[in-house]
Amino acid sequence: MVIPGGESTTIAKLARSFDLFDLISDRIISGMPTYGSCAGMILLANKIKDAAEGQESFGGIDMVVRRNAFGRQIDSFETDLKFKGITEPKIRAVFIRAPWVESVGNEVEVLAEVSDPSGVIHPVAVRQGNLLATSFHPELTGDNRVHKYFVENICRQLATF
Ligand code: GLN
Repeated sequence: MVIPGGESTTIAKLARSFDLFDLISDRIISGMPTYGSCAGMILLANKIKDAAEGQESFGGIDMVVRRNAFGRQIDSFETDLKFKGITEPKIRAVFIRAPWVESVGNEVEVLAEVSDPSGVIHPVAVRQGNLLATSFHPELTGDNRVHKYFVENICRQLATF
């Protein structure tokens, strides 16, 4: 499954209204390969900072994610990132009112990081088992290497889903 960018509060509310929330969450927790970008990353976080009141996440990745961490829409930006497991050239990463990862548990592998305007480094791509999450939107660049990483390193390892 791919959980796209958009608005994490809306995605969660819609999943609740259509009675899909628990089904999706259970599938993720039981190992269905899932990739979440931006709002999708927020939805895969076990804990959200700066969440809207009552905002829920599907969970699955042992991390704390801060919503809208880089600032407002106008603070959106692009940069080139090294991504562990993907060879050069660097990935062009598009951040749109993006979250960053504040902290991760032991099981979480950090795949890419970026520094905020004050120079502090934050993880922006992580993996825990069959779950992959990025703060940025690789689908906007025409470079499919992050999706390829998901398909080849995560989905292809499993035959049961
Ligand atoms: N800021 C959005 C949220 O909180 C995420 C933005 C995005 O997906 N580009 O859900």
